[in-house]
Amino acid sequence: MSAARADRLAERLRERELDWLLVTDLVNVRYLSGFTGTNGVCVVGSEGRLFLTDFRYVERAKAEVADFERLRGKQDLLGDAAERLSGRVGFEDQHMSVRTYERLKGLLPEGVELNPAGGLVEELRAVKEPEELRAMREAASLADDMYEYIRERGLVGRSEREVAVDVEREMRARGAEDPSFPSIIAAGPNGALPHATPGDRQIGPDTLVIMDMGCRVDGYCSDCTRTFATGSLSDEMREVYELVLAAQQESLAAVRAGAECSSVDAVARDRIAAAGHGDEFGHGLGHGVGLEIHEGPRLAQSAEGELVSGNVVTVEPGVYVPGAFGVRIEDLAVVTDDGSEVLSHFPKELVTVGA
Ligand code: ZN
Ligand code: ZN
Repeated sequence: MSAARADRLAERLRERELDWLLVTDLVNVRYLSGFTGTNGVCVVGSEGRLFLTDFRYVERAKAEVADFERLRGKQDLLGDAAERLSGRVGFEDQHMSVRTYERLKGLLPEGVELNPAGGLVEELRAVKEPEELRAMREAASLADDMYEYIRERGLVGRSEREVAVDVEREMRARGAEDPSFPSIIAAGPNGALPHATPGDRQIGPDTLVIMDMGCRVDGYCSDCTRTFATGSLSDEMREVYELVLAAQQESLAAVRAGAECSSVDAVARDRIAAAGHGDEFGHGLGHGVGLEIHEGPRLAQSAEGELVSGNVVTVEPGVYVPGAFGVRIEDLAVVTDDGSEVLSHFPKELVTVGA
């Protein structure tokens, strides 16, 4: 797998007339080489593929990194990598600190020209391979199981934090490496904060609870949100729930290869605005997911470009009524030529979870 990815990257480098790309972002290093340690650098060009790590990871690299010439460097790998570079060199300017950049410039051999080339590996990562989709399906299915688990365990009378701890322990017990991000459990007025942190207050009856969580399997993330009722709801809560559900379903139906990222966002945004809640949907419709929980492509008003087959994106409109409650519904979907394959399967019709 890594050979094919490095080949595709080398092709991109040729188009940009770059001799080498210095890959320093660890997620990109993992994607290209398979290396899961915390200190590694790849140097990729048409003339070669080098992987550098320090003595702590030599054994791990032997097991994980094929198709690259493996080199052992000092703990600070920058000097060892710099020695190997020549000609026009791209570097990951979206990740490299100004300090590291200045240091790199001082370490390079005479005549090497540095060019900002951030995003090249990310562009490859945005289109998933079958092997990656397999991991993501599994991660999404595990998240579905967690919603089923919560439905059985109940919400009322437990604190948000208790539920978060419980669900994260359970997903690990069932095979997740980790939660793909800190789980969000936001009841009642907390639900009006899109990125609420689970607190110690008990979850009450007759309100809405937003649960947003995901699992990591083989390095790949899933991401799913459901909003549960904990009893009987006000008319306003029901109305908003139905509105968000309709916006979610309609925008999800607009996902397909060739759809403009901003147009997919607009489907949900227009629907919500038409119902008078436009100001209460203050974030983008969705984001790409993969080795990272947020990656390309974005579905947002300001997003450029079109979806392509093999992208994996979330579709997650929300309405947040300040001081009162919030509703968000989020699915994870693989973009296909004629639509999408939705990876989240837990029901989206309002589910009531009591004590
Ligand atoms: Zn989410
Ligand atoms: Zn998300």
